[in-house]
Amino acid sequence: MPFLTGEHVRSPELTALTGLPFDDDDEVLRAAIDDASVPALLMSMVHMTGDPGILDRLPRPYMLIAMDLQGGMSEPDKQVVRDKAFEVAREYRDRGCPPPFVPDEHQLRVMLDVITGGQVGSELIEYIAADLRVTDADQNGPPLASTARQRADFPVLVIGCGEAGLLAGIKLKAAGLPFTIVEKQSGVGGTWLANRYPGCRVDIASQYYTYSFEPTDHWEHHYATQPEILRYLRDVMDRHGIADHVRFDTEVVGARWDELSATWRVRVRTGGGAVEELTARALICAVGQFSNPVIPDIDGADTFEGPTCHTADWDDTLDLTGRRVAVIGAGASGFQLVPAIAGTAAHVDVYQRTPQWMAPNVHYHEAVSDGARWATRHLPYYGRWLRFVSWWPIADALDEQITIDPDWDTGGLSVSAGNQMIRDMFIAWMQAFTDDEDLLAKVTPKYPPMGKRTLQDDGTWLRTLQRDDVELINDGIAAITADGVTDVHGVHRRADVLVWATGFDVNHQLGPIDIRGRDGLSLNEVWGDAAYAYLGMTVTGFPNFYCMFGPGTNAVNGASLIYNSECQMRYILGCIDMIIASGAAAAEPRAEVCRDYDRRSQQRLQTMVYAHPAVTSSYYKNSTGELPTLFAWRIADYWKWTRYPDPADYQLETAAPQEVS
Ligand code: NAP
Repeated sequence: MPFLTGEHVRSPELTALTGLPFDDDDEVLRAAIDDASVPALLMSMVHMTGDPGILDRLPRPYMLIAMDLQGGMSEPDKQVVRDKAFEVAREYRDRGCPPPFVPDEHQLRVMLDVITGGQVGSELIEYIAADLRVTDADQNGPPLASTARQRADFPVLVIGCGEAGLLAGIKLKAAGLPFTIVEKQSGVGGTWLANRYPGCRVDIASQYYTYSFEPTDHWEHHYATQPEILRYLRDVMDRHGIADHVRFDTEVVGARWDELSATWRVRVRTGGGAVEELTARALICAVGQFSNPVIPDIDGADTFEGPTCHTADWDDTLDLTGRRVAVIGAGASGFQLVPAIAGTAAHVDVYQRTPQWMAPNVHYHEAVSDGARWATRHLPYYGRWLRFVSWWPIADALDEQITIDPDWDTGGLSVSAGNQMIRDMFIAWMQAFTDDEDLLAKVTPKYPPMGKRTLQDDGTWLRTLQRDDVELINDGIAAITADGVTDVHGVHRRADVLVWATGFDVNHQLGPIDIRGRDGLSLNEVWGDAAYAYLGMTVTGFPNFYCMFGPGTNAVNGASLIYNSECQMRYILGCIDMIIASGAAAAEPRAEVCRDYDRRSQQRLQTMVYAHPAVTSSYYKNSTGELPTLFAWRIADYWKWTRYPDPADYQLETAAPQEVS
């Protein structure tokens, strides 16, 4: 594992990521340090002093937890660290901000032991070191084996310009591969452009929901709002010069593998309705799992006379002022929408079929202070460690809590002792916001925590449900009428506007796009509602075809889709490079490799909380109770498995392609 030396750390790219030199006065330093995450500060001090021993002389985090960037430390302990950090930062500034110290493996181990209380197994060091950027094993993968000239002859087409498609463009461009991104919407953003309902924001910490090669100091909120994310994606697109490669307002209708020329023939429909065929040597499908909104088949739904819209297709002209709004669905989208429209609408009825678990998170709606942003921008490696503090407690650290203990029996309320602890914590959190037993009964799930997507809450949800102008209805919907919704008890509630917050058809992620591989094989038919792909990316019978955020890649407990996209794109680039460098025309995963991966994935998922029978309605499950969209292992495993393709996993087609016409 090659750790970086001071010289490398001073490269402009890395300096932007790990901390820009500063000469600000003491007041600025003090304000930044007062607002900073103390665990991340502790680590930054090592980078400023070059002395890991400093950690022995200072208080350390009690435990990293998602709701607290301060590691559960007491106020006096935090103050001791802040005072020392101020001294260290001042001295570092006065020395002219020399290249930060980069620990070696042993020293990093010491630092990780301090910040996590010894939770990090040695097999994880390499993966963590890469994200911290103390090694050069970053998301780029090994050097390419093909020549620039060879790559220049290998056009790639990308479907979709959301976070994944944009990333694909950035990496393809850097590798010198010609490419076109085809995007049906009129701008970059994908899901983040489509989902612009009031209150929409990310529920993974912004620090982690960030490209690893981009600085993280721009975030205005700990959990960025949708407009902020969209601005970010637009900025990234501009900075990397991707817009010229994108055909906006153009929809991919279908794609067909042409055996003779070893190319994908991609049919696109332009905004004007004309259909064109584009040709590419590789096809990257970056439509993700959340591009097909679902409107359930409820009796009378088409008779409603007022305006209606889905959260994923928000009507920007919709004015809710003074109107009665019925929101159907209380999942991640409804949970964000309802508090944002309560008070504007005259009244909101929330139709909840199943309650969803909420994790306590005091930072959920909080803005990042100027001081904290300064610290992220300038204190050496502070931003990288803040990112670590944001993801470590919620991602791979939760393995035990999401695994079903076969000897644990609470009638489906929890799946293990660790899971029960989470349940108790979540319930205590809800009780802090109401003592209304009826309401608590309505909002407390009867399935184990984390069985469905866990929401992030700072008390807003329960405060909103207790407003006089908001009603939570969990009796089930009998019918929708011209002017409202009737529940199963026959109670009719009038509504002027109807909002569907009813989620997505993740098990048919291609939607209407018709992808045909070898011998006309239809991907939609091969997948049915049990889609699979080797490592979530490649499928037997579909040469040179790659998915991003494809089947089996939704790491639902705290992973950042952007992080996973980077893993995927690094691997995809490796696959393309493997094809080109070996002189092959095409590659597809060997059938046994692809099937075996899917089998192991589904087997493992059945041991996890998501598969528990008490989780009765969940978009994770398909018609047979399988969990085709979910990732079954640790993010650390995914990082490792996607570093580069193993040629033995692939069937290489050696025939040279005929001239592309
Ligand atoms: P969702 O989690 O699938 O929630 C859909 C809601 O609609 C559920 O409450 C569901 O009830 C309800 N529903 C579905 N059919 C219904 C019917 N026939 N009658 C009554 N209720 C019905 O969808 P989502 O809220 O759009 O979230 C989907 C995913 O998108 C999330 O899990 C998350 O991964 C992502 N997301 C992320 C963010 C974020 O990062 N901030 C925000 C929004 C969405 P049941 O629970 O009973 O099925």
